[in-house]
Amino acid sequence: MISSILPTYTRAPLNFVKGEGSWLIEADGRRFLDLGSGIAVNSLGHAHPALIEALTSQAQNLWHVSNLYEIPQQQALADKLVAETFADTVFFTNSGTEACELAVKMARKYHYEAGHPDRIEILTFEGSFHGRSSAGIAAAGSEKMTKGFGPLLPGFVHLPWNDLDAVEAAIDEKTAAILVEPVQGEGGIRPMPDQNLKELRALCDAHGILLILDEVQCGVGRTGRLFAHEWAGITPDIMMVAKGIGGGFPLGAVLATERAASGMTAGTHGSTYGGNPLGCAVGNAVMEIVTGPDFLDDVNRKAGLLRQKLEGVVASHPEVFEEVRGAGLMLGLKCKALNTDVVKAGYDAEIAMVPAADNVIRLLPALTISEAEIEEACSRIDAAATSVETASAPA
Ligand SMILES: *Cc1c(COP(=O)(O)O)cnc(C)c1O
Repeated sequence: MISSILPTYTRAPLNFVKGEGSWLIEADGRRFLDLGSGIAVNSLGHAHPALIEALTSQAQNLWHVSNLYEIPQQQALADKLVAETFADTVFFTNSGTEACELAVKMARKYHYEAGHPDRIEILTFEGSFHGRSSAGIAAAGSEKMTKGFGPLLPGFVHLPWNDLDAVEAAIDEKTAAILVEPVQGEGGIRPMPDQNLKELRALCDAHGILLILDEVQCGVGRTGRLFAHEWAGITPDIMMVAKGIGGGFPLGAVLATERAASGMTAGTHGSTYGGNPLGCAVGNAVMEIVTGPDFLDDVNRKAGLLRQKLEGVVASHPEVFEEVRGAGLMLGLKCKALNTDVVKAGYDAEIAMVPAADNVIRLLPALTISEAEIEEACSRIDAAATSVETASAPA
């Protein structure tokens, strides 16, 4: 008999009842170190006092009014994002998927209004993930996500990862945009080298194409800059944000330049919940902290420590791990053993980690993780690796 929850997820038999910073407390009292952060969502850890305050004080006043009215919390968050980034304008969503929908629509509308209604194709990359909507799965294109779901939204061209020649060859008079994650998350923590991002930007400029960055997972301080593309010294035309910006509250956004957004006039798009007072109150609190003095310096320092410690763990378990990769506090352990076996052994060692494609384990700690917690996390990963080795050792 089908479970009362639609069985689209394979769940670990863990029941977390409380969160405190980088810790998750199981119903039986065990304390797990959380290196997954609800898949890069709990950017400031669990139960951050500033987020509790923002949420509860807003909850006492006004939850929701719809976008038929002015929403000062939304205005403040949009102003902050515009002040801190390349963007001139922001649309708020409830998720990364919903941000993807708008990014695709916006890019096509831009060319339509510019007199090129045939420019509808969006170039995307193998291993990418842009959400589970019809546009999102068509954009990513993998059989795992698309098979059986009927005709796909047309207009996506799938290219190999990090192959600039393939990008150049794919550009023609129908190309509207290039859509890319600066660091692939689901695809296995694969950073696009800065030089390649620069070249994509240059190709877009040369051909009048829009550059859409999906920073749903790698944005909001995750890589040690507010947004990952800053490392490459480029800016996109359109950017998708979600996950970390809500710190656990469902909140996303599409950021855009005035030019890229020029087709999106009144009535062309909407969202009932997007940007409501409750979500934006939390988003403002997250942004205030992440853009606060020294916050990102601190992330970079801790990222260096985590990476260095992980290199040590990888070196002492060459049968289990192959390499550490990624950027900032978005790191991947490429495994030789089965990644899901290591994640499972991690549960026994009371550490929560997230598998990704390409046999990788994702480590996405809270940006507020302490140095002591980083040391503890690495010793638990070390213990998990040891137990995988022991289990697979010939009797
Ligand atoms: C998670 C994710 C999405 C989808 O976001 P949802 O909030 O799950 O809809 C899109 N793009 C990337 C890069 C993601 O990591």
